[in-house]
Amino acid sequence: MKKTNIIKNKEKSIQKYRFSVQLIFALLCVWIGVEFFLFAKYLESGGSAPFYQRPPGVEGFLPISSLMSVYYFFITGSVHQVHPAGFFIFIAIAMVSLVFGKSFCSWFCPVGFLSELVADFGEKLFGRKIRIPKYLDYPLRSLKYLILFFFSYSIFMGMDALTLKLFLDSPYNIIADLKLYYFFADISRFSIIVLSSLFVVSIIIRNFWCRYLCPYGALLGILSILSPNKIKRNASSCIECGLCAKACPSSIKVDKVKVVVSDECTTCLSCIDACPVADTLFLQPVKTKITINNRILAFGVVGIFLIITAVGIFTGRWQNNITKEEYLLLHKNLDRIGHVSSYDELETDSSLTNIKTKNR
Ligand code: SF4
Ligand code: SF4
Repeated sequence: MKKTNIIKNKEKSIQKYRFSVQLIFALLCVWIGVEFFLFAKYLESGGSAPFYQRPPGVEGFLPISSLMSVYYFFITGSVHQVHPAGFFIFIAIAMVSLVFGKSFCSWFCPVGFLSELVADFGEKLFGRKIRIPKYLDYPLRSLKYLILFFFSYSIFMGMDALTLKLFLDSPYNIIADLKLYYFFADISRFSIIVLSSLFVVSIIIRNFWCRYLCPYGALLGILSILSPNKIKRNASSCIECGLCAKACPSSIKVDKVKVVVSDECTTCLSCIDACPVADTLFLQPVKTKITINNRILAFGVVGIFLIITAVGIFTGRWQNNITKEEYLLLHKNLDRIGHVSSYDELETDSSLTNIKTKNR
């Protein structure tokens, strides 16, 4: 370890702010889940139970549909009206990642939050971090990019504006949220085994899902490379203690580089918090000397997310234009939707023609 006159790092840890944002976001997701449960109960009653408005925030859990809406927007210039909230949430997440790296994963994502809690528990249980050897880590990390490539190729190469519109207007896309809900509400034995296995593996290997399998994380990782704000290390004041690398949940060798350029860096700032020497690790825009302190980062990630979603809400584009009558009809045909791409195969209903022509 290099000997130098150490000026202690007195910057307050950002981790409690990050934890608060993660917790609030996770509770918001639970609230959305409860509201969606009540909406599903209304549909299951065939319309006789009290009506609960479907929470638009649920569309944040439909990343493929949202990516298609974004693509549709770029081709046509209009926001598709079936999952508009998903469109704004997707743009907000992408913008946060473009400005502050893959920060969505460590500041907002409920799966990332759960993975972090589970991994912390695992480290307490085993008394140490378990790292996958490099020869396995690199090929496994490419899995999420392969999954992303598969989805992106199907969307960007196989669909023009008309095909996109047909899919986005289709019953399958409209009730994608209900399908997702019933995936968990009527979960199959196979899915329980898969999810439990992922849970157990995540106790042993930190962020297993996020690091190796999540295609959303892969996309944000690519965007984060373009982010101007990077973790930088001042090599002249660094005492080479290695605490930053030890603290990094993404196993990045922060102590060996001058600038962290990695698709795995989630801007969690654990490295900066762990560094014992003042002004040695910091978040800075490239080619500048302006340091982004903890508070600016916290306001920045939350602010960008809130501003973009607020644009959706205050321009009246947050709620979709599907009526409860249409949802009731689609719910009645739920088991048959999944292999159909149009209304033609659904049960004929006297009001259906009016509903679909009126809406789209
Ligand atoms: S390099 Fe620092 S900010 Fe990036 S993931 Fe590792 S600890 Fe977090
Ligand atoms: S924590 Fe990392 S950057 Fe800070 S002094 Fe130790 S090795 Fe250097």
